[in-house]
Amino acid sequence: MRLLLVEDDRMIGEGLRAALRLDGHAVDWVRDVAAARATLASERFDLVLLDLGLPGGGPGGALAVQPGAEPADGLTVLRELRARADATPVIVLTARDAAGDRVKGLDSGADDYLVKPFEVEELKARIRAVLRRHGGRAEPALQHRGVMLDPGSKQVSQDGQPVLLSAREFAVLEALMQRPGAVLSRTQLEDRLYGWGEEVESNAVSVYVHQLRRKLGADFIGNMRGVGYFLIQ
Ligand code: CA
Repeated sequence: MRLLLVEDDRMIGEGLRAALRLDGHAVDWVRDVAAARATLASERFDLVLLDLGLPGGGPGGALAVQPGAEPADGLTVLRELRARADATPVIVLTARDAAGDRVKGLDSGADDYLVKPFEVEELKARIRAVLRRHGGRAEPALQHRGVMLDPGSKQVSQDGQPVLLSAREFAVLEALMQRPGAVLSRTQLEDRLYGWGEEVESNAVSVYVHQLRRKLGADFIGNMRGVGYFLIQ
């Protein structure tokens, strides 16, 4: 999954990014309100992790300080997202323990919230739950021609036999199985593999597809030359 992490605390941000990458997600990380606004306006994410206390927004996003205006923070980012009918799932991360902030977060359209400090394992479980709910699937597993992929447990099986995949092989297969019938470009698949600041090897996607074909059969993933990859029906 492609996640956006909005967090100004360097230690928390680095820790979360590392843990979520290990979990197989592509993580982009921004640290203030202005960067969060710009990124959410131009890119698509599967889920946003949003800190509430953030610098760099200015009051209401305006350049001039208006007396009495509240500084823009994570809640502002969330409200703006929902105001333009963007339904990207959002989990609010807050150090504030005032119940009022949690209620405001949920009222502003957050899908869930976590109060810092929290365990990374709990965050991962909340992410899985929110993504499951958001996908609207009562049965979270994806299936295609005898291959079953469970995004929650990260298990893949073929005709009932477990298939062992690396985190990145899993990410490529998950992207393809989420949109059966679609042709995904190399760039779309690379987006699922990497966050910003990570070197993208030019042949990475074809290497992972090659591995997946070796494990699942040569006729499982097709290649439309110059266009992208798709699941063979
Ligand atoms: Ca903060």
